[in-house]
Amino acid sequence: MRTVAEALDLIDDSVVPRPAQLTTLLESLGQTLAEDVVSDQDSPPFDKSLVDGYALKASDDGTGTRSFFVIEEITAGRMPQHEVGPGTAARIMTGAPMPQGADAVVPIERTALDSVTERVTILSEAPLHAGINVGCRGTSMQDGELVLRAGRLIRAQEIALLAELGRSWVSVHPRPTIALLATGDELVSIEETPGPAQIRNSNQIMLAAQVTALGATPYVEGIARDKLEDLRQRIGRGLQADILCLTGGVSAGKLDLVPQVLKELGVKEIFHKLQIRPGKPLWFGYLPPERTSDNLPRWIFGLPGNPVSSMVCFELFVRTAVRRIMNLSPAGPVPVLAELETDFQFSDPRPTYLPARLEAHGAGWRVKPVDWKGSFDLKSTASSNALLVLPAGPNRLSQGELVEAIPFTGRE
Ligand code: AMP
Ligand code: MG
Repeated sequence: MRTVAEALDLIDDSVVPRPAQLTTLLESLGQTLAEDVVSDQDSPPFDKSLVDGYALKASDDGTGTRSFFVIEEITAGRMPQHEVGPGTAARIMTGAPMPQGADAVVPIERTALDSVTERVTILSEAPLHAGINVGCRGTSMQDGELVLRAGRLIRAQEIALLAELGRSWVSVHPRPTIALLATGDELVSIEETPGPAQIRNSNQIMLAAQVTALGATPYVEGIARDKLEDLRQRIGRGLQADILCLTGGVSAGKLDLVPQVLKELGVKEIFHKLQIRPGKPLWFGYLPPERTSDNLPRWIFGLPGNPVSSMVCFELFVRTAVRRIMNLSPAGPVPVLAELETDFQFSDPRPTYLPARLEAHGAGWRVKPVDWKGSFDLKSTASSNALLVLPAGPNRLSQGELVEAIPFTGRE
């Protein structure tokens, strides 16, 4: 049986980013930049005033005269018409270009204007110096400068910078699509009242929510019964998405038919079963590009049916594949070190990923496992926002000890 680290490496090695494509700027939100972006301009593009006030030459202020003749008014969007010379100043608004001859701006709050003589007096005693309240051309970025590297997740900040550069289209690795197929004779839809021995299909919508939280697109493919023909048909359809996530049918039960059907459909197994709790039956494979209509490979996860196992396997493994397709790095989960909130004992022959509550605490993190009854216990996961990582074997941990925790996507 593979270890978690080996499984993550196998996913990282076998999954490849989707080819880049152009998208409109707002659509690029949450996708990965697929090009290096070089500025084709200086920013600010001209020396500009950072306040409303009076533009003048700082050295002119040292002459003893604190009063200046106002030669013009420059509003944002207009070019100055006059040069500022000794003893003169221009009234200027925030964002307006600095006039020739001026190198500093006195904020309006520190001045008094005599509107009859059109002279402005500086009220503050503080000396002026060149550059004060001026945004100089090219101080933010310069023409030819590399400002964003490929591989960056595009957020509002990147969109704003691209907008400043006039980039209404941008090259990204597109958002992956993920087909979700639940399997099991015992499942009914969430709208139905389960009969004896039945349960609601909670996994599928949970996974759809996890996919959406990652910025990928879910396709909900319904419930396949534990029958070869139904599985074949629905799996065949699900293989159109970049990733197909099945839940259930991958452990050792009599009707766990998923690996067999995947094999029949040409899907190659990369691993089956891991040293992990919960999630031991996890199955992972790929459909080679020569077997797909668009010559792009597909990746397939058979997640265990138990809801918490599915949830945990998604956060650790499917998320890694999604980030790899999106060309985000690192693709795998990044644990934080957190102080344990209470003494805690736990023993299992497999490394365990326990639902836990992670909170900011002082300069770091504090974590507490939730009261978890097993892989079926969805209720306890509702208060969790992370996974507490416990090594195999007996763990006798004391309050304050540092442990690893992996935050869930969108931890709150
Ligand atoms: P399996 O992996 O098919 O053996 O299922 C393991 C456990 O998970 C069983 O108790 C199933 O009833 C349950 N289970 C399977 N699929 C789902 C689902 N879609 N939603 C909720 N529970 C499920
Ligand atoms: Mg089943």
